[in-house]
Amino acid sequence: MIELAVTCSRCDARAVHGVGAVLLDRDALEGADDEAAWTRAVYVPVSLACPSCGALDAHRVEPASGRALVVDGEHVREGRAALSDGTPIYTPSEGLARLAAHADAHPDDPQGWRALGNFALRAGRADEALAAWRRGAELDGELECALNVAVDAVAREDASAPALLCRALERVVFGQPGRRSLQSAHLAELVRRSRAPLALALDGEPVDVARVRDWSGLGERLARARQVRASPR
Ligand SMILES: [Zn+2]
Repeated sequence: MIELAVTCSRCDARAVHGVGAVLLDRDALEGADDEAAWTRAVYVPVSLACPSCGALDAHRVEPASGRALVVDGEHVREGRAALSDGTPIYTPSEGLARLAAHADAHPDDPQGWRALGNFALRAGRADEALAAWRRGAELDGELECALNVAVDAVAREDASAPALLCRALERVVFGQPGRRSLQSAHLAELVRRSRAPLALALDGEPVDVARVRDWSGLGERLARARQVRASPR
């Protein structure tokens, strides 16, 4: 854990956050050693909330705290934070806002919702991640968002879990080569964990889920199936 001392830009409260990782952009210091320079140079991949007013990612980094950072390639790495298209960002909130604007402008492109959800999760903002994946999962044939939504519902033992799991199972056929076997294994594990009674058929052949003992074998069958039918019982 790295201890990062910051001052809230909204309410001026001082706080020390324990953070797991930092990206340090020495070029952004431009020879300066003041609060503005360190605030530009230090990127924390997880959103920080002010303990006094709750403001997210609205902080200035204390120069002494910045100077104390030691690049070890693990917790502190050197580099400039940027989105996958190269757009530089200074806080996770900024990245989220840009990705959300892109997804809203192209609502029928699942890649936008996927990217938004995955980024939000890495920023520690699980609710926003789920909201994005739910939007993506509404699109026909979108597996990854549907899988993430099902993972959440199964973990919470939500009443919607069986139906969401079945939707994801039927979409396994849209899994991209190279990802499908992992996604299939994940789905088989979800079926095991949910213990929901499902009617499942792979290429027309019924699978008695209650009698399955070889769950990795079920994953391999899901990875090969050309057609999957699944419905809650
Ligand atoms: Zn504050």
